[in-house]
Amino acid sequence: MGDEDQKILVVGGGISGITAAIEAAETGANVVIVEKNPYLGGRVAQLNQYFPKLCPPTCGLEINFRRIKNNPRISFFTQSEVISMTGQPGDYQVKIQVNPRYVNDNCTGCGKCAEVCEATIPSTLNYGMDSVKAAYLPLGMAYPFKYVIAEEIIGTEQAKKCAEACHYGAIDLEMKPETVTLQVGAIIWATGWDPYEVEKVDYLGFGRFPNVLTSVMFERLASFNGPTGGKFLRPSDGKEVKTVAFVQCAGSRDDNHLPYCSGVCCLASLKHSTYIRERVPDSKAFIYYIDVRAMGKYEDFYTKVQKDENVSLIKGKIARVSEDTDSGGLLVEGEDITAGARVSQVVDLVVLAVGMTPGTARIKPELDMAYDDFGFVTGSGPSGIIPAGCVKAPMEVAASVQDSTAAALKAIQVARRR
Ligand SMILES: Cc1cc2nc3c(=O)[nH]c(=O)nc-3n(C[C@H](O)[C@H](O)[C@H](O)COP(=O)(O)OP(=O)(O)OC[C@H]3O[C@@H](n4cnc5c(N)ncnc54)[C@H](O)[C@@H]3O)c2cc1C
Repeated sequence: MGDEDQKILVVGGGISGITAAIEAAETGANVVIVEKNPYLGGRVAQLNQYFPKLCPPTCGLEINFRRIKNNPRISFFTQSEVISMTGQPGDYQVKIQVNPRYVNDNCTGCGKCAEVCEATIPSTLNYGMDSVKAAYLPLGMAYPFKYVIAEEIIGTEQAKKCAEACHYGAIDLEMKPETVTLQVGAIIWATGWDPYEVEKVDYLGFGRFPNVLTSVMFERLASFNGPTGGKFLRPSDGKEVKTVAFVQCAGSRDDNHLPYCSGVCCLASLKHSTYIRERVPDSKAFIYYIDVRAMGKYEDFYTKVQKDENVSLIKGKIARVSEDTDSGGLLVEGEDITAGARVSQVVDLVVLAVGMTPGTARIKPELDMAYDDFGFVTGSGPSGIIPAGCVKAPMEVAASVQDSTAAALKAIQVARRR
């Protein structure tokens, strides 16, 4: 094998991982993506719209999926994770565990298996807000466009029924986890981020009150393929939501939780206020913030949202969220710093703008990188693994794409260093 044929491994198939993979492959490198979900796209695939243009995530993702499909130099494993890594820049040996999907490439996405399946599992896509059939397409625009048979029903009559309903021989209930060994010249680590576990911020009521959601859940609530088909319905009783309090820095910029700012949450809540204002004309949104962080080109988006007189931006911290038994809604209490007054307001729904924690906070690669106190990767360290995207720091999609393009260049250099 010539040096120019050295493979690049990309761990994580979110927007950062797929960008790095495509950019590297389009210069002629061979790239393998390893993704733990049954689909590519990461957290972006769970968004309803992107700020600042407010287009659906399908816009950017579909173009990338087409570039992957048309490029024979890119291959990928879904439902897979790295189990061991050894070696050094230019020469790594990596073992991957590929978990069974129980569906092979014959799948046409016809959905006959789901039609006959009566068992359900909580929807991870919708952050557990509803259930899906145990034979499911992970996402409306899933890539690869293939069903999954949930592990939970393997060995049951339900699984057999699904297999019998398939006209294409696509369901293989005998699939087992497989180990694949790869020899690669460079590794890009793009395992992204997870939302902060905001139930730890006890006074904000998440996990205790059904009408307190996180910002990532609100993305799903707003999505036409989400748990309510895009209708803003109160989880406790299905009533249409007319008033929403968005609580910024829910656990962020707080020494007891995440001392840092995630940078995107203010923009996400400004965007969220547009979701409800557009679909429920007599709705009102209240955004409680410490400082609105909408830097550079995002300032225009902020000022545009500010012009809506039914979106109130209130500078102040929320100290308590509790249930309001009379209305079935929530009582939000805190302070309005500018008015020098106490806030005591009843709303239908509270949305907590949760911070981003790095994918490496839970699973660190075996070959170590350099981390900060929160698990974000600060550099590649002696291992030579190249981090990309939100695993390095919270960032929006545009910055993730830029960072991953730079990571692709580094990976090409490393792979050819042998
Ligand atoms: C509420 C909210 C709204 C947002 N809205 C916007 C917006 O409108 N516009 C915008 O520009 N940005 C927005 N963002 C930011 C955006 O979500 C991120 O910029 C983007 O997700 C970064 O992509 P990534 O690939 O780095 O990480 P991720 O999207 O997290 O992708 C990482 C991928 O790695 C996979 N993975 C993780 N661990 C492993 C492992 N061990 N092995 C294999 N695979 C693994 C994951 O399954 C995932 O597919 C928002 C963020 C929040 C919190």
